[in-house]
Amino acid sequence: MMKIDIVSVFPEYFDVLNLSLFGKAQAKGLVEVRAHNLRDWTHDVHHSVDDTPVGGGAGMVMKPAVWAECLDDLLGLAPTVVDTTDTTDMAAADDTADDAAPAASGAIADDDGTDINDAPADSADRPVLIFPNPSAPLFTQHDATELSHAGHLLFGCGRYEGYDARIPQYYRAQGVDVREYSIGDYVLNGGEVAVSVMLEAITRLLPGFMGNADSIVEESYTGENALLEHRQYTKPAEWRGLKVPDILLSGDHGKVDRFRRDEAIARTNEIRPDLIGRLDCKALDKADRKT
Ligand code: SAM
Repeated sequence: MMKIDIVSVFPEYFDVLNLSLFGKAQAKGLVEVRAHNLRDWTHDVHHSVDDTPVGGGAGMVMKPAVWAECLDDLLGLAPTVVDTTDTTDMAAADDTADDAAPAASGAIADDDGTDINDAPADSADRPVLIFPNPSAPLFTQHDATELSHAGHLLFGCGRYEGYDARIPQYYRAQGVDVREYSIGDYVLNGGEVAVSVMLEAITRLLPGFMGNADSIVEESYTGENALLEHRQYTKPAEWRGLKVPDILLSGDHGKVDRFRRDEAIARTNEIRPDLIGRLDCKALDKADRKT
């Protein structure tokens, strides 16, 4: 069972998780989701979670104190003060993490030069804390696969101009595995949509989640040599004057596989040449190299 906690100022947004495959996965006990309202951890009459940006500028920024009360509760941590004069422990944790966790793709460095999505080595029993953030490394299928093995995920949805940068910084200093991910090069109003995207990408990889387990094996971005998938067709063989490629009707599985593989390589080369650049040549067969 994967436990999922989500913190948002609009927890109702996640009511949709009762629908479709995710709803079935909850009913089957594969996942357990709890959506929390960040405002439940406020103490003022207005339940305010934001304040003006230090240094000036438009909009509002989410306050660290409210987030910390909430996250301390959900992570079972006591409040503490970070000793910014002692960097020895953090450096040691980062060194170990280089061996323990694969770096996220498109990784960027934190102020101290370390990859912001490198996991500390001692975080195995705690939830992985994930903040969607448009100015973070891109969330990929590789990240979804890695996170599908976590037992507990805790998502924090940003709003307004985003959250105070010290929130992820503080929890990293507490040894929590903190990730920040962008879901694409555009800006949304809040983290709820981004969390939904990541959650779906992660949980559909859980054993038993999909009706047909084979449907996640050969997909775009998946496997040793991640390509875009070949085009898909269904019946009829001819529709409004358009035919499916003859070879797919041949019944020759070897030729069908070769045709699909060639098409996957050609499409990837045309649409996402960056993925072709990352292919492992050792995993290509002779016919691939001709394509
Ligand atoms: N001021 C921020 C910037 O320019 O980078 C944008 C903040 S956005 C309006 C508010 C929140 O939406 C963010 O804190 C984040 O949680 C979420 N968000 C927006 N776009 C996102 C994206 N592309 N990927 C992940 N999260 C996103």
